[in-house]
Amino acid sequence: MPTLVMKFGGTSVATLDRIKRAAKRVGLEVANGYDVIAIVSAMSGKTNELVGWVNETSPIYDAREYDAVVSSGENVTAGLMAMTLQEMSIPARSWQGWQVPLLTSPIHSAARIQQIPTENILAKFAQGMRVAVVAGFQGISPEGRITTLGRGGSDTTAVAFAAAFLADRCDIYTDVDGVYTTDPRVAENARKLDKISFEEMLELASLGAKVLQTRSVELAMRFKVKLRVLSSFDEPSENAGTLVCHEEEIMESNVVSGIAFSRDEAKITLVSVADRPGIAAAIFGHLSDAGVNVDMIIQNIAEDGRTDMTFSCPTEQVSRAEKALQAGGPENHVNFQQLIADTSVAKISAVGIGMRSQSGVAAKMFKTLSDEGINIKVIATSEIKISVLIDRKYMELAVQALHDAFELEKPHS
Ligand code: ADP
Ligand code: ASP
Ligand code: MG
Repeated sequence: MPTLVMKFGGTSVATLDRIKRAAKRVGLEVANGYDVIAIVSAMSGKTNELVGWVNETSPIYDAREYDAVVSSGENVTAGLMAMTLQEMSIPARSWQGWQVPLLTSPIHSAARIQQIPTENILAKFAQGMRVAVVAGFQGISPEGRITTLGRGGSDTTAVAFAAAFLADRCDIYTDVDGVYTTDPRVAENARKLDKISFEEMLELASLGAKVLQTRSVELAMRFKVKLRVLSSFDEPSENAGTLVCHEEEIMESNVVSGIAFSRDEAKITLVSVADRPGIAAAIFGHLSDAGVNVDMIIQNIAEDGRTDMTFSCPTEQVSRAEKALQAGGPENHVNFQQLIADTSVAKISAVGIGMRSQSGVAAKMFKTLSDEGINIKVIATSEIKISVLIDRKYMELAVQALHDAFELEKPHS
């Protein structure tokens, strides 16, 4: 029988009623003739609660125990979903990551999926089971410890299963009815896209649009998984949601297709570092050794052999970055006069494959922000995106202004 992967995010399984609603949706696909792999998230808010408990118990925790705790939310949903399906007379059972087993790297809280053997689940399908309910977000390391795939990781579990089982489709059920031109909670006139290219979705996700975890988009692109985002609250329909697909399948071509933002950004400036060969290598080498994810970098013009170096990283990594740069003395090779950390910035990005062939997007973006009186602190560009760092208090204003300036509420052709 053909296989379908259906993933239900936290809000779609937030209560027993919603689990029933999701189970009914699964039942429809079973009636359509599919064997279903249902990937479930923890009930809405559960993972945050678990992370809170970990932080309260142990500020510098053992990452293996962090994973043991935060993976547990998904186990509850998986069991409840399997029971709900059984109540509907649909043969189903739950699978935790280690039971599949979903094999991952040993990088706790950010593990990578290495392999999903299909035998166990296929054997059950062969015996008449119609739904394998799999706890998302979790796997097992080579050492036999529970791992998790990073926040939002159930999306990646879903796409990886779709690839491993050669599923007809991977449907991601969430609390919005598709991918929008920007977060519909921030811009009221955000427009749902019927299709979006893998490349653009990848940029939007990595620049903060949390509707899909970045890694899930990468996997779908690599393994040619037919990926759809849709709402678990709407009535079922054939063409619902947004299809994430190859560029060639899209007729509509906006220069900018979406605006992404991320509030959890920080800007660090090292004042007066020596301007000599090897200094950037030393600074960013220390940061990389400390596991700091540096994003944007600028180096100011040097005067008297000294220069300022500015970079951005996630807010939660600021103290780690400070420690890495301050530790050392002369063998550290980095001496600076002062380290200034600004933890109240946000990153706003415009994304679109049309930027490859059309100029003027950056100029329009900067003009729009300046008309709103918003100061740009750092700029970074790539082939299909422009990102700026601004004061966090202007984030919503900037998103709306850019959405309006690029007329994203209207389809273009
Ligand atoms: P789930 O719990 O189902 O995984 P998430 O909260 O992780 O759901 O992702 C869905 C949320 O992503 C939406 O509620 C929305 O606020 C947010 N979001 C951000 N950017 C976008 C976008 N461009 N299109 C749609 N949703 C977006
Ligand atoms: N429950 C996990 C989280 O909240 C994984 C997921 O829902 O995708 O991050
Ligand atoms: Mg999510």
